[in-house]
Amino acid sequence: MNRRKFISKSAKQIALLNIAGVAASSTLTASTALNMDSKKILRTPDELIYRSLGRTGIRVPVVNMGVMNANNPGLVRGAWESGIRLFDTAWVYQNGNNEKMVGQVLRELNIRREDVIVATKILLPDPAPSRGRERKKMFLDRFSESLSRLQMDYVDILYYHDIQSIKQLNDRFIRGAISELKEQKKVRFSGFSTHTDWPPLVTDAARTRFYDVILLSFNYGMYNDRRIFDAMKLAHEAGIGLVAMKTQCQQDWYLKNLPIEQTRYYEGALMNTALLKWALRCEYITTAVPGFTNFSQLHEDIGVAYDLTYTNEEEEFLNNRLVKQAIASVCRHCGSCVATCSQKADIPSLMRSHMYTFSYGNPLAARQTLSQIHPGRGLEACRDCSVCTGKCRLMVPIADRIREMRDVWG
Ligand code: SF4
Ligand code: SF4
Repeated sequence: MNRRKFISKSAKQIALLNIAGVAASSTLTASTALNMDSKKILRTPDELIYRSLGRTGIRVPVVNMGVMNANNPGLVRGAWESGIRLFDTAWVYQNGNNEKMVGQVLRELNIRREDVIVATKILLPDPAPSRGRERKKMFLDRFSESLSRLQMDYVDILYYHDIQSIKQLNDRFIRGAISELKEQKKVRFSGFSTHTDWPPLVTDAARTRFYDVILLSFNYGMYNDRRIFDAMKLAHEAGIGLVAMKTQCQQDWYLKNLPIEQTRYYEGALMNTALLKWALRCEYITTAVPGFTNFSQLHEDIGVAYDLTYTNEEEEFLNNRLVKQAIASVCRHCGSCVATCSQKADIPSLMRSHMYTFSYGNPLAARQTLSQIHPGRGLEACRDCSVCTGKCRLMVPIADRIREMRDVWG
């Protein structure tokens, strides 16, 4: 589903609502203002809502850029010119080309290094080397590659990527590596990213206070999950900065789970801005890093960072009973279905790869996610027995999705 289908008319409406009464400045250029309408260039990046990222002291706009899905240097440049200051990449994205692109664009912009926040992530394979020293060396080697791809002496935030267990979170060898990098001033702040059943991880991070920042999946599908808000509150109170990703979540839920009349009704209803605002209105979240891939999406997302007030239309959308039911069936990667599968298929990762394949249209990320699955627990593990059907409390159609994946990936 192309999220752009929902934007244009109402995006203009919301921008105009947000900017009503603010005089246009003749000194603004198209690249330094939110240019929704050439005759009404009324917003400048200094009007963006800023927040502090926990105890790091970093101040960033509430909307930044997850560069993962983008391969257009012009878009990164456009994001900077629109006021975005945090760029989120990873060692693994686009086989390293994503870091290279971010580094190159920031260099060409000729901005002071201290004026931009760069976050990258180091992923270890599954299974990771069993010897602690080898894990540490692999982590440090990969980080060294990241720095040279970025053409930088340091990164602001280094995430240990895709953490799935407390054991992994507190691996003393990886923590030792991160501490060394901080001492060497190659990393300013440490963090971890997580997609999978993260409340226990976030709660533990609040207890240990080792990590400064957490990048977590957070979206409207979680609106009624108390554990998530309790864990975020603990982290927030511990001074840990929380960055939201996957905020606009999977959108195939919208098409597949709502009656066609309902999707028509919400055509142009700013599903994406409503969902992004919902995430950012959470008091524990500092900022989000949506993965926009074109200028239309950039304008849509950065437009939210001027005013988090819902429009009537957005409020109606979020409160719609069918929408709530539909979004509640988005996979939260909780992992509780794995025990029901005799083959121990890594269902959460398969569902994530399904999301990249069918919702984000990002085959590279989908394939990378598949390749990171422990051998024998990927698509090849599934015997199509459908035992998992009906076992997910959110009613995610697991077997159907794996079948769809097999059609694409074999
Ligand atoms: S399919 Fe359901 S049970 Fe399995 S990881 Fe996703 S949300 Fe959890
Ligand atoms: S359909 Fe596949 S994932 Fe589901 S229980 Fe059977 S083997 Fe496991």
